[in-house]
Amino acid sequence: MTKLQVDHTGALLIPAKELMRLGLQPGDCVGIEANDTGVLLRKQVTAAPPANPVQQAIARKNLTTGIQFIKGVGPKLAELLAKRGIRSVEDALFCLPHRYEDRRQLIPIRQLKPGSNHVFQGTVISTESTETRGGRKVFEAVVQDESGSIVLKWFHANGVWMKRTWQVGRQGVFTGELSSFGWKPEVHHPDVEWLEKGTDVNAVMTADPVNFGRIVPVYPLTEGLHQKGMRRVMRQVVDTFLPNLENILPQSLLETYQYLPLREALGQVHLPPSDAPLIDLNEGRTLAHRSLAFDEFFFWELGLALKKRGVALEEGISFRVTHRYTKELVKLLPFQLTAAQRRVLSEIKADMMASHPMHRLVQGDVGSGKTLVALMAALVAVENDYQVAIMAPTEILAEQHWHNIHHWCDQLGVNVVLLTSGMRGKVKKEALQQVADGRASIVIGTHAVIQDKVEFHRLGLGIVDEQHRFGVLQRGVLKKKGANPDILVMTATPIPRTLAMTLFGDLALSVIDELPPGRTPINTKIYFESRRKQVYEMIHQEIGQGRQAYVIYPLVEESEKSDLKAATQMAEHLQADIFPGLRLGLLHGRMKPEEKEAVMASFKKQELDILVATTVIEVGIDVPNATLMVIEHAERFGLSQLHQLRGRVGRGSHRSSCILLTAGKLSEDGEKRLRVMEATTDGFRIAEADLEIRGPGDFLGTRQSGMPDFRVASILRDGAILEQARSAAAKLLERDEQLHSSEGQRILQELLQRWGKRLELAGIA
Ligand code: ADP
Ligand code: MG
Repeated sequence: MTKLQVDHTGALLIPAKELMRLGLQPGDCVGIEANDTGVLLRKQVTAAPPANPVQQAIARKNLTTGIQFIKGVGPKLAELLAKRGIRSVEDALFCLPHRYEDRRQLIPIRQLKPGSNHVFQGTVISTESTETRGGRKVFEAVVQDESGSIVLKWFHANGVWMKRTWQVGRQGVFTGELSSFGWKPEVHHPDVEWLEKGTDVNAVMTADPVNFGRIVPVYPLTEGLHQKGMRRVMRQVVDTFLPNLENILPQSLLETYQYLPLREALGQVHLPPSDAPLIDLNEGRTLAHRSLAFDEFFFWELGLALKKRGVALEEGISFRVTHRYTKELVKLLPFQLTAAQRRVLSEIKADMMASHPMHRLVQGDVGSGKTLVALMAALVAVENDYQVAIMAPTEILAEQHWHNIHHWCDQLGVNVVLLTSGMRGKVKKEALQQVADGRASIVIGTHAVIQDKVEFHRLGLGIVDEQHRFGVLQRGVLKKKGANPDILVMTATPIPRTLAMTLFGDLALSVIDELPPGRTPINTKIYFESRRKQVYEMIHQEIGQGRQAYVIYPLVEESEKSDLKAATQMAEHLQADIFPGLRLGLLHGRMKPEEKEAVMASFKKQELDILVATTVIEVGIDVPNATLMVIEHAERFGLSQLHQLRGRVGRGSHRSSCILLTAGKLSEDGEKRLRVMEATTDGFRIAEADLEIRGPGDFLGTRQSGMPDFRVASILRDGAILEQARSAAAKLLERDEQLHSSEGQRILQELLQRWGKRLELAGIA
């Protein structure tokens, strides 16, 4: 406790360091309040000072100071810090503790409890090196205080070295958690601070306020970097630079959402006040943590909003909805559009009629009828004498689209052309010619094929079918193939809303949240290898009733020969040994398009009972009579992929089942994941569970996902904050459209600093 002094003028003197801890700095206004334990000094929040670009530049410059210039950081330490991604003061400030330890007071050894870290002091009274029965090296030390003694334990320890350090009689302060494992109380791998012989523990603790007498931050480390050293550096950075950090977000905005300014929030995260709730701290949910997440999300969302507005300001095509083809198509269809399809279509039409380019994402679960929506949009463009490009992620899916679409378009008299990478010579030349001179109204191909050297006569609409592949949105390339054509992106992956907002926030979002009627629910069950026979029996029965079945094999890479062989051999084995009387077909990605087409056609015509396939079918086939799907090595698939695969059954009026066959032992996560498949067929819930179990990085397939790297915020934990940030950003732009106010200018500068490159915002400033 620091004693405060009053000077001769009667002013209270507060040491600069204490001022920091209060989150105050010279110049701040302070109000005095009393409560029953004493007097409270509370900072009075004043309006943000007018923007001062020079000052701001200085503040920024401070933040970019290299970490090697921090007192006590030599070249060696700088190198270690760099390994943790800390190269500048700014990096350090945003390197948050990954957990916290309660070192507010010493706990008598007798009172140690499992469940959280405690600090206790004691004297070493004995040590021992042993080995477990399994041959693991264990080092034990017993320490004692007035209240009792406790065993400290290390596994895989170097006994010789430990014995040298842990000398009997040595006194220390220990930090660790009482193990609740077994009946004997122990503390595993505690932290230790040794005390000089005869020193008073309390004096030592007061003398080292960075490490004791408070809730202490624990930072992520890297090999060679120690917690104490790290903590010292961080403290140094926080003390020196935080007071100069500029709070960019206006006070009024923060007050609306009741968040702390950046400076206060960072201060509290690195040096939590002593009454901070430990659990919230450790989960990253304190007000300070949430404020940081808000700050981070706000700038990202503002960037997206500006980008979206940039598009809105571009000139585009104003299509007229004439109903010439669309009305005809609706008449031809053997069913009615679902309400969701109609709603999404009217959203698309409104965009297409507007004078700026459409940038819209249509999200819909497998089988929700996206293809039809895409076709209707395409016909609107064709009615206006424009061409449409439809890009699919795989050859087989492009073929499937072509198949579906030209079936209707032939009846409407609309010319559809398929471009594949396998096309050669005259055929290809003719197709390209039709695209170039405008005879082809709708052009379908893979991303690669359409990007290639295809020239359009008059491209008006680009449809990008991402299916379950994320992120790699090839909107830019398509845009350049025409004069600012409209862009429609379709995804079958039910991306959770928060994630969609983050990833595609500059796109307008439409969701087809309804399946066509008449679908029967799919019964899903996990079977272990030991029950394989029973699974075969079920296939027999199903086919006995006139239905058909799929057997799916995972392929890690379509090109991997060994996997292909597994599928091929399995097909042979099933035919020869298990189902000699049935008709089997084989489908995999290495087959020629005509071969694939032929196999799928005969399965559709019920000339085959069982289709053994790799994952190529996940995006292809539509056979309502197929009611049973067996997925081998189900544990190797991602949940979203399993969902896609499963979507191939349950398409007719008969009851369908999906069997997830697994090789035997499953990890805890593995089992949890597969159980989700049993529990639900709702793609959104599956995606959310997948996200929860795997985390956003993995869920999206890492690098190519296009996920921004947030330093503090977590999309999973802070989803609600993301939505607040999004609406806050929108409100700011409503109020200050061009960000012309001094406040707006500061925010814009900061935005460009943080995300300018990433969002390609250069044109906006
Ligand atoms: P998605 O691409 O969204 O997975 P598809 O467009 O392939 O789904 O549609 C799945 C199936 O549902 C197709 O056979 C399609 O003809 C059919 N379908 C589409 N819309 C409807 C509807 N409104 N009513 C009944 N069936 C529909
Ligand atoms: Mg589809």
